[in-house]
Amino acid sequence: MDQRMPAIFFGHGNPLNALLENDYTSAWVRIGKQLPRPKAILCVSAHWYFPATAVTTSTRPRTIHDFGGFPQELYQVEYPAPGSPELANRVRALLAPTSVELDERWGLDHGTWSVLCHVFPQADIPVIQLSIDETQPPEYHYEIGKRLMGLRDEGILIIGSGNIVHNLHTYAWGSRSVEPFDWAVRFEKQAREILLSGDYAPLIAYETLGRDATLSVPTPEHYLPLLYVMAVSREGEQVSFPVDGVDGMLAVQFG
Ligand code: ZN
Repeated sequence: MDQRMPAIFFGHGNPLNALLENDYTSAWVRIGKQLPRPKAILCVSAHWYFPATAVTTSTRPRTIHDFGGFPQELYQVEYPAPGSPELANRVRALLAPTSVELDERWGLDHGTWSVLCHVFPQADIPVIQLSIDETQPPEYHYEIGKRLMGLRDEGILIIGSGNIVHNLHTYAWGSRSVEPFDWAVRFEKQAREILLSGDYAPLIAYETLGRDATLSVPTPEHYLPLLYVMAVSREGEQVSFPVDGVDGMLAVQFG
């Protein structure tokens, strides 16, 4: 059996992180150096949020520049990692009876490449993406996520990329540093406590956690990748936070 791979949720924040060297990106570099080399990567990105569960099957996924109004340099970033139709088919089989579309059109969006260009800068590990079905409730994502747990024992690195706190006012766009809102600080602290407790039910039912959660998660897409990563964790497994950040950039690692 292969060594069990960790599973990691990354707060990705501003797409410009792809070009920057800051505390977050140096932590991402460090994570990449500490990880065993995966056979392939499965990424659930906040930015592939549409009405179906789908996997990318292209052997050469394109780098998608899915944003507007950024410097030209950012549109020139390419992350030429190969795809893995084999892994895509494996994911599809594991998720049955849930129907999974095989998608040739999507590629790697910035939720994936703005982080991976620091974690694995060589872009030589195959990467596929799994979409987030926007028509489904949080429990759905947690439940289907559980079916992917075994991939970690096959050398597959499972990544979620979003932001636990996603309110654009809470993080510093550009060089301006902004004091985080008290509700963002409280919600992130609460999320960390729940993750450490091992009883994830309150995070799955985050909509019932009150005002701090509502403000921190104004729309679900940046939060839901966390549920996939929680779902593939094992009972009693070590939880760590390799990137700190009261501004939504928290990373969560299992194993
Ligand atoms: Zn994003």
